[in-house]
This record gives sequence, C-alpha cells and structure tokens, in this order.
Amino acid sequence: MIIACPHCHALNRLPADRPLQDGRCGKCKHALFSGQPLELTAANFAAHAEKSELPLVLDFWASWCGPCRSFAPVFAAAAAELEPRFRFGKVDTEQQQSLAARFAIRSIPTIMLIHQGKVLAQQAGALPKAQFYQWLQRYS
Ligand code: ZN
Repeated sequence: MIIACPHCHALNRLPADRPLQDGRCGKCKHALFSGQPLELTAANFAAHAEKSELPLVLDFWASWCGPCRSFAPVFAAAAAELEPRFRFGKVDTEQQQSLAARFAIRSIPTIMLIHQGKVLAQQAGALPKAQFYQWLQRYS
C-alpha cells in the first residue's frame, strides 16, 4: 500500500502483512501515523489526495469561521481514533485559495472524502462527532 509521509510527503510502499500504524517513512524516518490532522497545501496536496492509496478526509476551514473552530476538535479526535484507516488533512481556505477554487468550496467548513484523486463524498457544514463518524462509514 502506498502511503504519503505526513512530515516530508515522500511516498512509501508498505507491505500488506504488517500493521500500517507501525510504519515509518523510509526518507525522513518519522512515524507515518501520528494521530493528528496534517496541514495540506498546494505543494503537498497531490501526494496525499492523489498518489497515496489511503482515503483522505479533508476539512476546508478558515480561522474567522466559528463553526470551523467548533468542528476542529471533532476532526482532531477523528484523526486520533480513525487513523490508519484514513488520513486526515486540513485545508486553510484563505492560505490555499487555489485548492478552495479547484474544489469549488462555497461554504465552510466543507468536509470531503477523497481517494486517489476521486471525490467520494462532500458535506457542507460541520457535523457532530457521531454523525461525522457515520458519514465516514457510509462512504468508505
Ligand atoms: Zn517522511
């Protein structure tokens, strides 16, 4: 399975017979899973959203958005609890306007599930934790 490193964004091929969460990056030697959402940018987006074989859950947010701030702890808890089934990434829509434009983000937060470049599901607006987990189950 191909996994992009959350630190240096190098692609790693992991054997299927070993637990993913123990994986370390062959390039930078950091753990491949830290239980935290990573900050996605135009520079590292393709590694995680297109080349990695792990489903990627995205949170498009902005610092001035109240519902985004309330949703942030839910999203962080999901990263801690649901890795390595998914990778969790945050897109700051003010810093990363090209990504926001590419996915036509009209309201924030927008939650998206993407796998190897294909958008599997998209949800406008925050969800409470239980609904968020159900949403992930339904589309994964
Ligand atoms: Zn690395």
